[in-house]
Amino acid sequence: MNEDLERLIALHDIDQLLREIENPQYRDLGFEVKEQRKADLNKARQEIVESLPESIYRKYERLRAKYGRGIAPVVGGICMNCFIQMPTAVVGMGQKNQQLETCSNCGIFIYWV
Ligand SMILES: [Zn+2]
Repeated sequence: MNEDLERLIALHDIDQLLREIENPQYRDLGFEVKEQRKADLNKARQEIVESLPESIYRKYERLRAKYGRGIAPVVGGICMNCFIQMPTAVVGMGQKNQQLETCSNCGIFIYWV
């Protein structure tokens, strides 16, 4: 898999975890544990951000502001962000996830499942 693609997926997971920590179910954790987890997640996030090319990270943040997420899976040839069928002929099966791609309809970063 493309390295930047791997980083974007990890970044997306961390952003989801950071969001989940604000959920009421995490109230039981206690303030200190919660703050520590947030700090750990933000540290990991920073490491990923620093290893990503700046233009890719900026685009990820633009997409996140627009859609609430910067990357989406393609399942059964369908983009899970805009639900448009992807033109499968563009990329051969072996090429999938070998390069960073965006959805031709909504522009979100995509990975093939
Ligand atoms: Zn799309």
